[in-house]
Amino acid sequence: MRYGLISDIHANLEALEAVLAALQKELVDQILCLGDVIGYGPNPNECVELIREHAAVCLIGNHDEASLGRVDLDLFNYMARQAIEWTTAQLTSDALEFLRPLPYAKSYGNFMIVHASPDEPRRWNYILNLDDAAQGFEGFTEQICFIGHSHTPWVIPLQPDGRMRVLHDYPLAVQDDCRYLINVGSVGQPRDRNPDAAYGIFETEPLRYSLKRVPYDVVATQKKIRTTGALPAFLADRLAAGQ
Ligand code: ZN
Repeated sequence: MRYGLISDIHANLEALEAVLAALQKELVDQILCLGDVIGYGPNPNECVELIREHAAVCLIGNHDEASLGRVDLDLFNYMARQAIEWTTAQLTSDALEFLRPLPYAKSYGNFMIVHASPDEPRRWNYILNLDDAAQGFEGFTEQICFIGHSHTPWVIPLQPDGRMRVLHDYPLAVQDDCRYLINVGSVGQPRDRNPDAAYGIFETEPLRYSLKRVPYDVVATQKKIRTTGALPAFLADRLAAGQ
């Protein structure tokens, strides 16, 4: 199997379209979406529609859940809250119907997918350092766990002797005796100082993973964010900086 892994689209239609076009060229068998289809960006309904059409599986993210009114908005910073309130007002009943039953995690035997940390998927913990990663590894039994949530792509292998490190080299050949946490980065709001949309390609025979980047029309998305008049301007500015 050849999977396309995407996460944190955040209602950025231009970025999602660019990634879907790239995935079509990559000839993936299935697209797995790790959540946060909406929030921050100007096109929540359009992005939900494209994900519904193209993804074999979509997990729920914290922004998706917040837009359904199921998360305390005090857990979000001011900007995220503004965006969630605006997004909630935009969502069609079709989009709500799609988002409501989405699962928190899914296992595929030797790998699993989850939006945030696998140890407690519903608590939306971030994996930002190796201590967080150690806790994350406790939360799953599969060899590999793919995540999103922090918008920063990396690979953390856990060696048999318990050592961990952070890798940014691709393609990654999966070693039999290692376990892995892999952050697939963000389609619609990358925060690793590279504004290009991120996605992952995961092949199962042999086990191999690669992070890919594709440029998109950032200026078009920025214009749309600004013309809403309700989304904070920083949400437009940050797209060009990739942070
Ligand atoms: Zn996110």
